[in-house]
Amino acid sequence: MKLIYTHENRLLVELVKSRLEVAGIKTRLKNEYAQGATGELAPNQVWPELWLERDRDLERAQQVLAEAEVEQKNWLCTACGEDNGAAFDFCWQCGRSRPTAD
Ligand SMILES: [Zn+2]
Repeated sequence: MKLIYTHENRLLVELVKSRLEVAGIKTRLKNEYAQGATGELAPNQVWPELWLERDRDLERAQQVLAEAEVEQKNWLCTACGEDNGAAFDFCWQCGRSRPTAD
């Protein structure tokens, strides 16, 4: 198996896991329950790890992750040039809707 993603925040790892599953890529989570109940990191803490069940999915999985990162980038309004946060579907300056990726 190949390690595709790891992060101290288990929710992010699970988000990536679900993205990959939507794309038809089988994954396995390791160290899922390593994090303490308080959410604080102990000195010897291990991060949750997301592993690919099939090595041949690696390239495809990396593509899915790259696309996810693109989605999270800020976008420029085509009408007024305002730099909008990734979470917004409408320009907060003029209200124009976010341009589609293609
Ligand atoms: Zn605008």
